[in-house]
Amino acid sequence: MSELLVDSNERPRCVVMKFGGTSVEDAAAIRRLCQIVNGRLRYHPVVVVSALAKVTDQLFAAGDAAARGDRENARAILQEIEGRHSTLSRELLEAEECNALCQDLAVDFCATYELLEGISVAGDFSLRAQDHLLGMGEHFSSKLVHSALVQNGLDAVWVDAKECIVTDAAHTRATPLWTETNQRLESLLGPLLGAGRIPVLGGFAGSTRDGVPTTLGRGGSDFSAAIVGAGLHAAKIEIWTDVDGVMTTDPNLCSEARCVGRMSFDEAAELAYFGAKVLHPSTLLPARRQNIPVWVLNSRNPYGAGTEISAHSHGDGRVKALSVKRGVAVVDVEPVRWLAPELLREVCEAFERYHHTLDLLSASRGSLSLLVTSTTSLPAIANELKGLASVRWENHKALVCLVGEKIRRRPEIASKVFRAIADIDVRLICQGASERNISFLVDESEAEESIKRLHKVFFSSESKPDAGASHYALCQSGGSWQ
Ligand code: ADP
Ligand code: ASP
Ligand code: MG
Repeated sequence: MSELLVDSNERPRCVVMKFGGTSVEDAAAIRRLCQIVNGRLRYHPVVVVSALAKVTDQLFAAGDAAARGDRENARAILQEIEGRHSTLSRELLEAEECNALCQDLAVDFCATYELLEGISVAGDFSLRAQDHLLGMGEHFSSKLVHSALVQNGLDAVWVDAKECIVTDAAHTRATPLWTETNQRLESLLGPLLGAGRIPVLGGFAGSTRDGVPTTLGRGGSDFSAAIVGAGLHAAKIEIWTDVDGVMTTDPNLCSEARCVGRMSFDEAAELAYFGAKVLHPSTLLPARRQNIPVWVLNSRNPYGAGTEISAHSHGDGRVKALSVKRGVAVVDVEPVRWLAPELLREVCEAFERYHHTLDLLSASRGSLSLLVTSTTSLPAIANELKGLASVRWENHKALVCLVGEKIRRRPEIASKVFRAIADIDVRLICQGASERNISFLVDESEAEESIKRLHKVFFSSESKPDAGASHYALCQSGGSWQ
């Protein structure tokens, strides 16, 4: 084995393989997963899985129903989830293994019914209860996938993600405590890898130092995979999903979207932050810090080239992809007297106090415009700023972004953009805050049309985007990923 594939503990470097909800949605998907993992054995896989498709939303609906006192509906939803896991166990496993798994899961489901009961008694679906309940989806799916891998003859070991990923107590959007998490990963997963075994764990969930369950935010299993990859000094992180890679835009919005061969960490992070659901926005942070390449691959088309995300951009000054962030509100802050620097500070601090992230800020002499993704605390913020400024906001806006390394330095890009959408009402334009992003705000109803037109301008006449090296070919040849 190449030296590059051995880490500082003299252990072979692993590959972290994350499978999203649709990649574990039914028996066929889980069988494909087993084949894909089987094809990576010599690269020492660690498997991270999401909940079965739709289960997280169902768990949320169950908790919500319980909090409203609708126990019957809450239980019915959980029964449906339990039924789906039992059916899959029967489809995937032989009788003995199926019984063992079903007995194990029955204990977990029993605890989950009790959790719903507790929510119902409290009449409150607190953020802490949400984390406990929603994290169960990955708990169930990871046990199922583990059994399926073992049934396929692989030496897999189920590991409780809550023991590995230690976070702060910011429920529903927890941040890992890196030192502790890395120590846990090393002590819990390191020996398994050293013994040639395959750790299998759920994504999305972690727990505080005191063992209280937390989650990393919706879509957070990608982030889990990157945390595990960084902690174990993986050779690479693979995000297996339902599209061929990172596409030039969301294929649901534009059927012409095609796979981007290569992107830089920064480009992919920008795209994820500005709405591309394919990656959780925090995924690239740990990967970039340790310079671990991230591949986005299609579990329904495992021999496809996929997208390689690494420190290199490959094609500066080119628009690589387009994204849309929906559900944005634009907040106008008009000072009572004039826009003094103190007011800017007061405004930022008020938003900070309410944990409101500002996506964009534009200031003129007379006023401020801010973009936010949640309006729940705006009445309270407006109240705090009363006397200093008047605060008004408009909902249902969408931020359309063009992403590509150094596109800011190409003035012709902005002029092409505004020619293409000349008849669309644009509220805010941001070019210059980042080297690799040009964004503008439109009504949500205009977002899809804007994307379609821009896609035509930037991707139809150009030659095909750089297809990158075939990931499959690299794996087959035993090529180094470094
Ligand atoms: P998973 O369940 O595997 O985590 P997600 O649904 O979270 O999958 O993410 C994949 C989805 O992201 C795709 O089906 C696609 O609709 C959406 N998406 C949005 N923007 C992009 C993009 N630029 N490239 C690829 N997929 C995108
Ligand atoms: N199951 C979680 C969600 O749906 C996490 C994930 O799939 O990444 O948000
Ligand atoms: Mg996802």
